[in-house]
Amino acid sequence: MTSTLPNDNIKNIDEKITNKLVSEIIRDRIKSKGTRFSANDNIADFINPGELKVLEKEVASRIKDLLKSLVIDVDNDHNTQETAERVSKMYLNEVFKGRYHEQPKVTSFPNDKNLDEIYTVGPITVRSACSHHLVPILGECWIGIKPGSKVIGLSKFARVADWVFSRPHIQEEAVMILADEIEKLCEPKGLGIIVKAQHYCMKWRGVKEPNTSMINSVVRGDFRHDISLKQEFFELVRQQSSNNNY
Ligand SMILES: [Zn+2]
Repeated sequence: MTSTLPNDNIKNIDEKITNKLVSEIIRDRIKSKGTRFSANDNIADFINPGELKVLEKEVASRIKDLLKSLVIDVDNDHNTQETAERVSKMYLNEVFKGRYHEQPKVTSFPNDKNLDEIYTVGPITVRSACSHHLVPILGECWIGIKPGSKVIGLSKFARVADWVFSRPHIQEEAVMILADEIEKLCEPKGLGIIVKAQHYCMKWRGVKEPNTSMINSVVRGDFRHDISLKQEFFELVRQQSSNNNY
């Protein structure tokens, strides 16, 4: 294993002398702050500039070992010769980018006109992977907002949802984490989120049930306290689900 941290990126002398793997250095930093680093947590704040490239090499090396343990001839099988590097890049920069990369920039604006009618955005495509088997979860998400003091552009909901879901998850927690992030960004008076997704752990393996989906929702603020508002949210989503032409 040679994927240690290059000297010019090392700020802490202790990190320099230990010659640790970059994953260990990042993990130590997180632990020293007492922060959680579960599969669906974002750890971008603990990764210094340049370290992600080094981590990419370390992960590729581990995946190559995994392929060898699966008794695949990575030296002579032309199909798998660069698989380890591809999978490493895919994990760190695509399918799990929501762990290693910062949240996309979202500018919020003051709600000067005091908008207070609810609106929904959806369906937004969400792509994730289950924490248990690392196989895909693919689905759609609807977000309902009763505006508060701040507003954000409609496309930003899709960007934030993509960032939150691009981590290993269980669906129930993904919806809660997305709700937390949207509350931080625009402080709505009411918030509702519905996710309907298909889990490849059930389609591709296990019970092999191809058509089963899971739907879950979270409602907060006025959507939780006001039953008619909650019903209006579910009705708007029902209309968006049954007619995608508008
Ligand atoms: Zn699973």
